[in-house]
Parts: sequence; C-alpha cells; structure tokens
Amino acid sequence: MSADLVNIVYLIAASLFVLGLKGLSHPRTAVRGNMLGALGMFIAVVITLINQQIIGFEAIVGGLILGGVIGGIWAVKVPMTGMPQFVGLCNGFGGGASVLVAGAAFVEASLQAGTHAVPVQFSIATVASGMIGSVTFWGSLIAFGKLQGLVSEKAVRFPADHFLKALMLLAGLVVGVMIVMNPGVTEYYWIMIAIASILGILLVVPIGGADMPVVVALLNSYSGTAAAATGFVLSNNVLIIAGSLVGASGFILTQIMCKAMNRSLANVMFAGVGGDTGGGEAMAADEIYDGKVKSTTPEEVAMLLDSVRSVVFVPGYGLAVAQAQHAVRDLSNLLESKGLKVTFAIHPVAGRMPGHMNVLLAEADISYDKLKDMDEANTGFEQTDITIVIGANDVINPLARDSADTPLTGMPILDVDKSKTVVVIKRSLSPGFAGIANPLFAADNCLMLFADGKQAIQDLTAAVKDA
Ligand code: NDP
Repeated sequence: MSADLVNIVYLIAASLFVLGLKGLSHPRTAVRGNMLGALGMFIAVVITLINQQIIGFEAIVGGLILGGVIGGIWAVKVPMTGMPQFVGLCNGFGGGASVLVAGAAFVEASLQAGTHAVPVQFSIATVASGMIGSVTFWGSLIAFGKLQGLVSEKAVRFPADHFLKALMLLAGLVVGVMIVMNPGVTEYYWIMIAIASILGILLVVPIGGADMPVVVALLNSYSGTAAAATGFVLSNNVLIIAGSLVGASGFILTQIMCKAMNRSLANVMFAGVGGDTGGGEAMAADEIYDGKVKSTTPEEVAMLLDSVRSVVFVPGYGLAVAQAQHAVRDLSNLLESKGLKVTFAIHPVAGRMPGHMNVLLAEADISYDKLKDMDEANTGFEQTDITIVIGANDVINPLARDSADTPLTGMPILDVDKSKTVVVIKRSLSPGFAGIANPLFAADNCLMLFADGKQAIQDLTAAVKDA
C-alpha cells in the first residue's frame, strides 16, 4: 500500500479525532463526539495493521474481537461511580502499551545496530516513551487501587519521599542518556523502565484517594504524551497526532479540575492532602450541629412545594451513589406539570469526575436547557423559593466562601444558603470528600431530609402527588 494513501487515511482519522474532541465539549454532542473519536481510532488501527503487515489477518480480527468484547462488556458493567478508576486503568494500559511497543522497536533496532546506526531522535523518543509510559502504567495502577479500595486511600507520606522521587527521576534520566549514547545495550532500556516504574508508584502513593480524579486526568495526559513519543519511535503520524491531542486535552482538563477546586497542581501532587482529618474536625462538627439541625419529612417538603413557584435541584456525589437521576427526572416533570419552574444547578466538580452530574442527568433525559452552570445558578439563588440538594456536600459548604482556614477555602461554591429554603437530602451528617463539617446543615433556612437519595426523591414524589 502506498505511503501517500496511508497518510491520507491517517489524515481522515486525525480529523475525526479533532471533530470528536469538539463534540465532547458539550453534553448534547458528547456521545456523537465519542463515536467519531472511536471511529477515527478504528480506521487508524485497521489501516496500520493492513499496511504494516505485521501479523496475519486471523490474529488481527481475533485481537479486535477479543479486545472489543472484553472492553465492551467491562464498559457496560462498570457502575457510573466506578468510572474514574475504569478510566484510570485504561490510561495505565495505554502507558504500558507504549512501553512495550517502543521497547520492541528499540530492541529490534539495537540488534541491527552493528549494521545500521540507531538515529539519536529514535533513541530519545524511545527513552521518553519508556519513562513516561512506565510512570503512567504504575501510577494508574495505584490510582485504580486507591479508588477501588484495594490500596490505602490515605495520602501515605514517608520520610524523604520528595527526595526519593527526585532521585528516581534523576536516575531514570541518567540511564536514558546512557541509552541514547549506547543504543546497542538493550538492558539499559529495561533498567530505565524499572526505575520509572518505582517513580510512578512513589508519585501516586502519597496522594490522597480524594485527589485521584485529578491524578487520573494527569495520567491520561501522560499516556497521550507516551503514545506521541511512541509515534516518533515508529514514525507513525496518526499516533503522534492522537497522542498529542490526548496529552494536551488531558493537561487542560487537569488544570480545569484544579481551578474548580482552587488548588494548584503542585498542591495536589505534593501536598499529601487527603489523609486522616483527625479529631479536631469531628469536634468542630459537634459544635456546629449541636441542637441546631432541623430534620424534615417528604410530606412536609411536599407541603412547602405546594406553595412555591420555583425550585432548584443541586445534585452531588450522593446522587450518583444512590442512582437517583431517574427518580429526580420524574419529580422534576411532576413539579413542572404543577406549574413550578424547575432548574438544576451544576457545580464543575460535583461528584467524582468532571461532567459527572451532566452525564447522570443526561442519562435520565433531563433537558440541557434546565442545567445551569455555577456562575449562572449563583445569580438566581436569592430569588429561589426552594433549593433541593441531593447528596451534595462540599460544593455547597459556605465555609469554602466564608472561612479562611479549611481544606475547602477558596473553592467556588453554589450559594444555596442564599435561597429562601434549602432542603438537603443525605443519609446522615457525615462529611463529604473534604472531610469537614458543613454549617449549612445547621442554618435557620435549612431542613435535612435524612434518607438515601433515590428513596427520598421517590417518597417526595409520592407525597407531592398526594398533596
Ligand atoms: P461530597 O463528596 O462533598 O458529598 C457527598 C455526600 O453525599 C456525602 O456527604 C454523603 O453523605 C452523601 N451521600 C452518599 N451516598 C448517598 C446516598 N446514597 N444518598 C444520599 N446521599 C448520599 O460531594 P459533592 O458532589 O458535594 O462534592 C464533590 C467533592 O469531590 C468536592 O470536594 C470536589 O472537590 C471533589 N472532587 C471532585 C472531582 C470531580 O471531578 N468531580 C475530582 C476530585 C475531587 P451521607 O453519607 O450522610 O449520605
């Protein structure tokens, strides 16, 4: 097959990646964007395998079916709440694949080093692919373990951990230089892989489980960078383009998440946030809540809803845990049929992954027109009669706005405390992701409906119908 034809097909695949990314920028077009990206990748894989004639068609088709079936079943079975670790693991596989593919190409080139010189750019690309790919693979495995509860979720710090990381990075780079200078010695590559693997583990172990979604986004960016480097090793244009797109978009996403949490990337990576919150905050919770929390019932909330004109729903992580999105859609439709104005206020880091709430609400066919982002929603809370919070905690905690010294300080929040009445649905007074008490629950205008999110919404729907 001519190189020109292959490059034209690669260009089509690359265009599909770009269109796919564009589609992912809005919930309405996200599914189509995902499909376009997947189609681009399918085309790129098929043309590469046909062109390179690396292995027989039986193996190619067998591999596609096997990988497709495993990936398909897994993706369908994984619960929405397990999506961050699923994505994390997929990133890790990408990094691991880069290490192996670049390594195989390097070993092949090294074996021929006696007859053909190994170009310097080839060795440098191999080093980049091996280093970044190993860090991605092992870092992603640890991130998966933390999110899945297989490894301690705590930020495990140990003496001189920053020094050890710097030492491993330096050692990896030194061995990398040795590879470039002595491309005939393949052992150096595997020594570098071992060092980078330790570095990957050391980088992620000291980060708290709660920060893992940011780490997963960063590792996603690394997996793209490793793939782009492998593209240079193989002189494969589409891999360079796809890897660069993933590397850049993953990094932008990481920045967006850090900004929404009001944290710097350095703070997430090196500050060891997410450990034991200690007894001090538990005491603070007693002081904040003691005798001031008012609990309510679905019937009482239904009576309140009977006399108002507008309601804002605020979904949070608990909505995902309870899988309450369909129940909320039913309640929202019922309230609208009674003439109420219903909107949803979406915080950018509500839940455990970017766009978590948008995805859940889209799954329940809740119209995008009803979703208001944080800035828009915050202009309307003062005029809102009732805000119903479902399983959100940190993203509505006024301490983030009003207190100078908490893990949430500075994080922009949804100002639900400014609405006339706030109903918070959650099972207890337990803290959220940041591990701190929430004074909203003790506020005069706040009523707590203690229940599982889905059950509470179903009971509320029944009560509204009876009212
Ligand atoms: P939080 O984690 O702050 O709180 C979730 C609340 O949901 C808990 O207090 C819990 O209370 C309640 N809950 C759990 N299960 C249920 C259930 N079945 N029914 C009803 N309630 C339930 O969630 P938020 O969405 O408010 O905030 C997200 C946090 O995650 C932020 O701090 C954010 O910075 C962080 N984060 C988000 C990322 C993202 O990309 N979205 C990435 C990284 C971090 P109880 O146990 O009492 O029911």
